[in-house]
Amino acid sequence: GTPLLGLLIPDENNHQRTLPTQPRLEIHAISRRFDGRDVVTDVSLQVAPGQVTCLLGPSGCGKSTTLRIVAGVDRQSSGNISVEGRVVSDDRIHMPPEHRGIGLMFQDFALFPHLSVAQNVAFGLDGGYRANRKRVEELLERVDLSEFLDTYPHQLSGGEQQRVALARALAPRPAIMLMDEPFSGLDNRLRDDIRDRTLELLKEENTSVLLVTHEPDEAMRMADEIALMRAGRVVQRGAPYHIYNNPVDRAAAGFFSDIN
Ligand code: ADP
Ligand code: MG
Repeated sequence: GTPLLGLLIPDENNHQRTLPTQPRLEIHAISRRFDGRDVVTDVSLQVAPGQVTCLLGPSGCGKSTTLRIVAGVDRQSSGNISVEGRVVSDDRIHMPPEHRGIGLMFQDFALFPHLSVAQNVAFGLDGGYRANRKRVEELLERVDLSEFLDTYPHQLSGGEQQRVALARALAPRPAIMLMDEPFSGLDNRLRDDIRDRTLELLKEENTSVLLVTHEPDEAMRMADEIALMRAGRVVQRGAPYHIYNNPVDRAAAGFFSDIN
């Protein structure tokens, strides 16, 4: 639905306090230029608690650059980013990725080949698998991989590896999950089913997600809110069916015209 506006109020020490209505992720006016060329221009968006916001647009429009900036592996030229009301990056602050409370899932989800499935899922948890048995087993059960605890990645199919990567990213209960075309390496037959199962698990875990995709049908299927991006700018934001039914211009209408 509608993005929730964050209310920031100072506590007795004059720190910002998080209210329940606050977005989990707030991107404010970020721009990025590479060698004098603007690749991302004045992008602002929010992800509300438990919601999936889709950054949708054609190849080359700046989606991955935006996500990399939020993750902290790249840095904006201007603008700022907050996670749960806390600034993680602005002109002065640049928190490293591992301190941002963010989970990542990219197209080449790169499981650790020398670690078992259970060890992969436990990778980001203090104390590893032994200390987090319950959480790891619960997640592997949720992605239907309980019998693969001791299996190694190369013994799994692409779809199974993708599910391990999802469990691994969710294990530390990130405040916000960033997903960059996470289904594009999968074959068509599997993709819809994996999308549905992924969405179900994300909702059960009440995870907030910023999902990047160039496929309108994926955004329509998964998003609570779509931010339509073109040439580095967000040109329209809204609920999927609102955008589908009221495209901002001919290019936006054309972009959606392949889906049925
Ligand atoms: P998308 O994910 O929407 O396909 P990207 O964010 O990957 O788009 O890329 C947007 C534009 O920025 C592309 O023209 C790309 O070549 C350029 N770009 C991305 N990263 C860099 C970089 N490190 N240096 C120079 N140009 C880059
Ligand atoms: Mg990309």
